[in-house]
Amino acid sequence: MSISICDNVRDVLRRIEKSARRAGRNPKEVTLIGVTKTVDVARMLSAFECGITHFGENRAQSARKKWEELKDLPVTWHFIGNLQRNKVKYVVRFCEFIHSVESLELAREINKRAEQLGKVQKIMIEVNISGEETKHGIKPEEVENLVMEIEKLPNLKFVGLMTMAPFVEDPEEVRWIFRKLRELRDDILKRHGYDFLHLSMGMTNDFEVAVEEGATMVRIGTAIFGRRDE
Ligand SMILES: *Cc1c(COP(=O)(O)O)cnc(C)c1O
Repeated sequence: MSISICDNVRDVLRRIEKSARRAGRNPKEVTLIGVTKTVDVARMLSAFECGITHFGENRAQSARKKWEELKDLPVTWHFIGNLQRNKVKYVVRFCEFIHSVESLELAREINKRAEQLGKVQKIMIEVNISGEETKHGIKPEEVENLVMEIEKLPNLKFVGLMTMAPFVEDPEEVRWIFRKLRELRDDILKRHGYDFLHLSMGMTNDFEVAVEEGATMVRIGTAIFGRRDE
């Protein structure tokens, strides 16, 4: 078992707990997703032994290969990356959550593949709050319409919103992005009568601020596995 991965997981969990308490939240409301892109299966196994039970992947085919090797592990798989329509078939098989839906065409393809597999796929809509052109996701004002269209697709279950904040030195600078996603979520909750919707937000550099602002899922790679050389 890798000592450093375990130390890192413990440290991240402690920081999540502190941030949640600062905001008067129950830390159990926050799911830690270990982002395992570029991480090999041996280290994924180590992470599992250190308590990580959610894996997040962003490349369909390599994720699928890793899942083939690890499918007996009792973990939940998340797809968090940009998803091309022709790769949907790889992902729907094993991912419980797809965080990165950003068009109706993609939603329809996921619905079709889910139907073929006889499952209901949980999906989130990725929102580009910052307006940066390099970021994926739809504009906040387009979310309402996409939710309505997704609700018509029988093999999809809309479960929340996801965003990625730009990298900044001081994460306080992106607090407004997380707050805005929360407000958007609260608005949809009210108008569509859901009991609960996830907020998938917060990465290594900014997860404490995201938790303070209401994240229910944080996606952490570097703080657990170390720097990636991409
Ligand atoms: C890589 C990635 C993460 C994790 O980033 P770290 O900064 O390494 O924690 C989270 N979310 C998405 C969508 C990613 O692609």
